[in-house]
Amino acid sequence: MTERTLDTAASSSCGCKVGRITAQYDLNGLDDELVSYWTDRTDERYSTRDLATHVNQRVLEAALDEAGLQYKDGEVENTYRLLTGDDVSSGTRVQTRKELERDSIPVEEVESNFVSHQTVYNHLTDCLETTLESPSDEERLERSRDKLGALRNRTAAVTEDTVAQLERGDVLDIGEFNVLVNVTVTCEDCKQQYTIRDLLDQGGCDCE
Ligand SMILES: [Zn+2]
Ligand SMILES: [Zn+2]
Repeated sequence: MTERTLDTAASSSCGCKVGRITAQYDLNGLDDELVSYWTDRTDERYSTRDLATHVNQRVLEAALDEAGLQYKDGEVENTYRLLTGDDVSSGTRVQTRKELERDSIPVEEVESNFVSHQTVYNHLTDCLETTLESPSDEERLERSRDKLGALRNRTAAVTEDTVAQLERGDVLDIGEFNVLVNVTVTCEDCKQQYTIRDLLDQGGCDCE
């Protein structure tokens, strides 16, 4: 977490590209967003790549606003994807740029204002002096428990659906049933088996 008190006025005067576009497009609250999304201590935490996308979408949105364009929910994100996505054909990209130009958006300028994840990282660490505290061991275990628990629940749900479907289709005969998902980890040093839950709770194998 950061010790810094957030002050948008101070940060917009930083000389880096993020500071410059924040001032140019009047991106209110951007620094606060960057810091809080980056230091969020849950699985929702943004990577610097996610943050760069966020910054660039705000730039695009501001450019659309400036041109007085109306857009629907999700349209900015989609337009950004069409402009930058790896999975978008060059034909689609050209078409998207043409449409934006027709709407008086200075596409080239907007694109030149897009930032990389490295730029965002430098802005966070150098200009905003934010540091990312690495999570404690206990927090990492907790996160892993949550993640694996969710995965187990999904596996159980899919299994239940599949069995039920086969049963309805008369492919499989079964009475009322219950699905239990068990993941076991074997320590190859001593051949001891643990459920993943026990292993995380106990923090390692007995033999170590
Ligand atoms: Zn900066
Ligand atoms: Zn062992």
